[in-house]
Amino acid sequence: MSVNAAAARLGKALSGAVHVQEPMARHTTYRIGGPAALFCALEGVHEVVSALRILAEEGVRWTIVGKGSNLLVADTGYDGAVLVLGREFRRHVIEGDLLRAGAASVVAHLVQDAFARGLSGMSWAVGIPGTLGGALTMNAGTREGSVGAVVDSVTLYSPEQGLMLVRGSDVAWEYRRSGLAGRGIILEAALRVSVGDPVRVRSSMERLLKERKTSQPLGSPSAGSVFMNPEGGSAGRLIDEAGLKGARRGGALVSPVHANFIMNDGGATAADVMDLMRTIQTTVKAKTGVDLRPEIRFLGDFEGS
Ligand SMILES: Cc1cc2nc3c(=O)[nH]c(=O)nc-3n(C[C@H](O)[C@H](O)[C@H](O)COP(=O)(O)OP(=O)(O)OC[C@H]3O[C@@H](n4cnc5c(N)ncnc54)[C@H](O)[C@@H]3O)c2cc1C
Repeated sequence: MSVNAAAARLGKALSGAVHVQEPMARHTTYRIGGPAALFCALEGVHEVVSALRILAEEGVRWTIVGKGSNLLVADTGYDGAVLVLGREFRRHVIEGDLLRAGAASVVAHLVQDAFARGLSGMSWAVGIPGTLGGALTMNAGTREGSVGAVVDSVTLYSPEQGLMLVRGSDVAWEYRRSGLAGRGIILEAALRVSVGDPVRVRSSMERLLKERKTSQPLGSPSAGSVFMNPEGGSAGRLIDEAGLKGARRGGALVSPVHANFIMNDGGATAADVMDLMRTIQTTVKAKTGVDLRPEIRFLGDFEGS
């Protein structure tokens, strides 16, 4: 593996800067994470294709991230390349009842536009941070629904398959999981929207945002809900009933507002968050028999933490 050779070649092939040993704490909502060996933004499909070819030829592994709002990156970082999609993938247009958006589009901006135009179909997204690519990978949503329900099609690229157009109806959409994960880089998607009654659409979106503000701790860095809800139950309630609200490891704190949020209360490390997650899992299992499964994604090596 030659990170230096890859950095030099990527520097020539890409229009943006290639960062070496880039702290991932700068690219996650947790504000936690050691360095990525390489970090670069890709503009346009041609840069996606070139970057993946160069990385394969130099034997450097890679991953793609959005806004890092569902990510815990190890304190030791990631020894490969972290890729993000650049400005060209942030555009969106509304054509009839389809909202076509690049995968780097910020979901909140899509919601804002739907709000301004009185379009229904986006209430699943109200208050969810991150990009469309991240939302599609996670099948992000709320109790109002999830993105999978409104996907018409998704365009992906993988070195093995090239460009692929996948119908939303051909993807397995599960709770906080989608069959798109691991299939390549999501480049864009078309979502079904429809012109609704603007007053109803807007007041429902405002209500959802208000509810979120009162039920979730939005002041300190976090990655949202850490664990998936067990079938028919609530991870937050189980953690609360296990007496773990306010539990702390170093700078990581189980939110006193919403027990399924672990906050970075100042200077938390990935090891602190991981330690608290393990304590929660062991305690909840011992008290209720329920295995809590992480909703957040991990990047890097957590063996020693
Ligand atoms: C305060 C807060 C509240 C939240 N509330 C919710 C909520 O209500 N509902 C909910 O579902 N989530 C919620 N989340 C979690 C998170 O915002 C979502 O999972 C979001 O969709 C992740 O988007 P992202 O761009 O940040 O993805 P990242 O965290 O950067 O990545 C998540 C996954 O997507 C993959 N990925 C990202 N972009 C691409 C791409 N272009 N191609 C292929 N793979 C890609 C990454 O490799 C990774 O596996 C919350 C998070 C926070 C911080």
